[in-house]
Amino acid sequence: MSLLEVKNLRVTYGSGARAVPAVRGVDLRVTAGQKLGIAGESGCGKSTLALALLRLLPATARLSGEILIDGEDVLTMKWGRLRAVRWAGASIVFQGAMHSLNAVHRIGDQIAEPILLHQKTTPAVARQRARELLEQVGLPVARADAYPHELSGGQRQRVMIAMALACDPRLIVADEPTTALDVMIQAQILRLIEQLVAVQDISLLMISHDLTVLAETCDRLAVMYAGRIVEEGPARTVYGAAEHPYGRALSATFPRIGDTASRRAPRGLPGDPPDPSALPSGCTFHPRCPVALAACAEEDQALVTAGEGHLAACVRVGAGTEGLR
Ligand code: ADP
Ligand code: MG
Repeated sequence: MSLLEVKNLRVTYGSGARAVPAVRGVDLRVTAGQKLGIAGESGCGKSTLALALLRLLPATARLSGEILIDGEDVLTMKWGRLRAVRWAGASIVFQGAMHSLNAVHRIGDQIAEPILLHQKTTPAVARQRARELLEQVGLPVARADAYPHELSGGQRQRVMIAMALACDPRLIVADEPTTALDVMIQAQILRLIEQLVAVQDISLLMISHDLTVLAETCDRLAVMYAGRIVEEGPARTVYGAAEHPYGRALSATFPRIGDTASRRAPRGLPGDPPDPSALPSGCTFHPRCPVALAACAEEDQALVTAGEGHLAACVRVGAGTEGLR
């Protein structure tokens, strides 16, 4: 059984004329120990999807579909159960660690708090576990007494990872976990995440606008555009031989794994993703697509098989994309 299974998930912020359909029918599956990457430019709905998984969205968001964690639907779960699942089932690492940590509490106490709450243990045991976690994420145990502002950005992100690990989750959702960090620290944090999920057999859903970060870390990649998955397949295939023109454009934007210059100045993909409240007709990528056909403005294309374990939502798939690379 899948650890995480998302079926036809839709998330719309607001309603009426100002409705923002941010996620528009997403299907995903993560099996035990698997690492799935979700790529896409800013505004494509990646964070909305991540927050929806644990029902962390603002009250203005309306959700439909199913989000099964170990077969249990998060969308219909009772409040108490949901709280338990948020720590022990799946936990989230966000981009801006500074905003997620409490400025007036020592980090050791912040890591111990969920352990105390969810594992019914004594304060002394929780504190000891917090220290072990700090060690696991490569921070000196003495840093348990530090306040968030006394740590560097990379150290704070390590604390966030320690908190995510606190209650032994089976799935970690990491939303742009390294985007705010400089390149050297980014590489260290990615290695740490990789190592931890491998050793502890945790599944990973990692989100980034940077395809190289995902290609390096994940087994499978899903490419999101305008609230939908437009391509999904083995990481190497999607990074190296994408079938959807958007997947190809993203790969071209980040041509080399670890290449710092291209990270700072992405190239080869002019324009922006559409505003979800004013989506283009037909295939939402057609206005930016270098190989669009007349029909692409009229009709959207569902995901179709593009190879083994590889799906892409483009009319060109299976109809001779070879000459177009
Ligand atoms: P990504 O993480 O891929 O950058 P987001 O999920 O943050 O994308 O945003 C997807 C779309 O939803 C964007 O158009 C964004 O402006 C919109 N959006 C995000 N949060 C809210 C919100 N709380 N209310 C209304 N619109 C939102
Ligand atoms: Mg985001």
